[in-house]
Amino acid sequence: MDLMEYQAKELFAKHGVSTTLGTVVQTPEEARAAAEAIGGVTVIKAQVKAGGRGKAGGVKLAKTPDEAFGHATDILALTIKDLPVNRVLVTPATPPVEEYYFSFLLDRSNRSYLCIASVEGGVEIEEVARTNPDAVKQIPVDAGTGVDEAKATAIVDEVGFPAELRDQAIAMVQGLWTVFTEEDATLVEVNPLARLEGDRLEALDGKVSLDENAEFRQADHAAFEDKAAADPLEAKAKEKGLNYVKLDGEVGIIGNGAGLVMSTLDVVAYAGEAHGGVKPANFLDIGGGASAQVMADGLDVILGDAQVNSVFVNVFGGITSCDAVANGIVGALEILGDDATKPLVVRLDGNNVEEGRRILQEANHPLVTLEATMDGAADKAAELANAAKG
Ligand code: GDP
Ligand code: MN
Repeated sequence: MDLMEYQAKELFAKHGVSTTLGTVVQTPEEARAAAEAIGGVTVIKAQVKAGGRGKAGGVKLAKTPDEAFGHATDILALTIKDLPVNRVLVTPATPPVEEYYFSFLLDRSNRSYLCIASVEGGVEIEEVARTNPDAVKQIPVDAGTGVDEAKATAIVDEVGFPAELRDQAIAMVQGLWTVFTEEDATLVEVNPLARLEGDRLEALDGKVSLDENAEFRQADHAAFEDKAAADPLEAKAKEKGLNYVKLDGEVGIIGNGAGLVMSTLDVVAYAGEAHGGVKPANFLDIGGGASAQVMADGLDVILGDAQVNSVFVNVFGGITSCDAVANGIVGALEILGDDATKPLVVRLDGNNVEEGRRILQEANHPLVTLEATMDGAADKAAELANAAKG
């Protein structure tokens, strides 16, 4: 989960990283009041989960509360990288004397962590890396030993922070490492990490990505979720504990096992080429236990997608045998009743497949077509989806 700047700064403050929280608001009137309360010059900053807000006109200085009102009006009307701006952050304008770049990230290819930092920050780090690669330091961090004071000192010296900021930088690096580890982040980035007047070091921006696999031990992180921005179908699926991702096509997909579902998406996309270019509408892995309730929950979410014209149920019976899955499908259609309106193409294989097919044939539900192979079923589902497109 990616955090907005103001949320990242909350985590910075929690772990002693020097930053200014400011006030998050949703209307120009609130922005004016916030600027009034802060006093002096303020910065109005778009809160969206995207970088490059400065360039897009999403970061503006306001000399007066009325100017804050005006800038907030403009910024709240912006769309930055396809993301509507629903909130702005109002903070005291602390003019940076110098701007640095600092980050910790998960380095998957090396199964370790990496610090990327540069005293040439402020602008996009990719740009610095292109024009002046020597200025961008990449420092591996051992996952076992992490960043203690000695490692933080080595990082600060290698990056080349000014001597008068050395102690502050060492503390800042340790603080950011604490954010990275204690909050189970996969990315902690500060750009700019600013040198302010009076030689104070402060995080003027913050970008944090949290590892959703650690949710079980990070109860506080649920508060960061932007429920309004989440896709309503994905939110509903999450509520029901389903592993669902909304896609842009017309063929709903249900399968068991992530690998099988992934290949089902490929097969449907391929089959769709011969049927008006229809595509998979979603990823949905119902996992091992294909009970009637899980099947009903899955179908319910998929049928809630107005773009769906047909559904392909692709199950390989293993520990949960095909007859259990078939009973699950029949039961799900009973549970859904009139809410089940789209044709279902079912392909069953694996453990106890004969019995599974017999159950479905016997039920003889008007919406259900049984297919013997994955390719055949994908073709049928694509054909039905295309026919319904009209
Ligand atoms: P980004 O463009 O999305 O990365 O947004 P930033 O928060 O990095 O802001 C872009 C630029 O605006 C920074 O590089 C700074 O130069 C400037 N800026 C950001 N925050 C402040 C602030 O509090 N005071 C002042 N004077 N400038 C700021
Ligand atoms: Mn930035």
